[in-house]
Amino acid sequence: MKVGILAVQGDFEAHAATLARIGVEYAFVRTPRDLEGVDALILPGGESTTQWKFLAEEGLDKSLREFGARGGAIFGTCAGAILLAREVRNPPQPSLGLADIAVVRNAYGRQLASEVRHGATDISNAPIEMVFIRAPLIERAGPGVQVLATSEGQPVLVRQGHILIATFHPELSSDTTVHEYFLRMALECVGGDKQSSGVSSH
Ligand code: GLN
Repeated sequence: MKVGILAVQGDFEAHAATLARIGVEYAFVRTPRDLEGVDALILPGGESTTQWKFLAEEGLDKSLREFGARGGAIFGTCAGAILLAREVRNPPQPSLGLADIAVVRNAYGRQLASEVRHGATDISNAPIEMVFIRAPLIERAGPGVQVLATSEGQPVLVRQGHILIATFHPELSSDTTVHEYFLRMALECVGGDKQSSGVSSH
């Protein structure tokens, strides 16, 4: 299992550090060619407008859409969640549209809502740390979208088949629960031949 991390802007290094901690091979993705041999992909937090510009310039928007359409597993955190959404408002911007969610950027004001919370999820027994940094708000989730965690009444961790979305930053916590969940999900997507490598389920 090789995990690609979109590395055009944002906290891609923090995702790399998390994957290194759990012993998973990763590669930074900056061009369509970098996607070759990548089984699953992480879209990090950062600034989604800047990230989108870069994707469009490099033709990576098309490659990422194709990767998603082929059923490749994708995990978007914060700005990555914005990139995956079908609809983006406040302000609006183009996106990959791979997940049937609508998000509001700057929903909580520019300086507010950068905070650490702890919350229950459907993916582990213990509550997990959730670091929010100017997080987008998921204002609509379609019928095919499973809500795996809410915080203060809002969905913050959702899954649609092979797409996982967190409006918080699991890569900034020492707890690796969400990444390990994503890797199990990704292994299901790539099929039996690679089941023996990567992460064990626990
Ligand atoms: N609100 C930011 C954006 O629009 C995302 C914030 C983040 O990734 N921490 O890109």
